[in-house]
Amino acid sequence: MCDAHPELVRAAGRVGDATAITCPVCEADKVVLVSYVFGPRLPAFGRCITSRRELQAIARRPGSFSCYVVEVCPSCAWNHLARTFLLNPARGRAAAR
Ligand SMILES: [Zn+2]
Repeated sequence: MCDAHPELVRAAGRVGDATAITCPVCEADKVVLVSYVFGPRLPAFGRCITSRRELQAIARRPGSFSCYVVEVCPSCAWNHLARTFLLNPARGRAAAR
């Protein structure tokens, strides 16, 4: 997806979830996880998720949303799409959790 997106690297420093994974490229830093959500009424380049609560709020909206979790190295800006999943695969169910 977005290669060395400056916004992605900024997001990594600001809202990234720390991991224990050392960057495979520069080995100078641990990669962090940044989540993006794509779906109706969100920017075409996705919305960077800053908190778990924000993610849950979007999951409650009508429509289908996809979440992309990207591993980003804050040092060298290496990034890698770790996984994608549907935010609300069964709408109306499991929303109470
Ligand atoms: Zn790196």
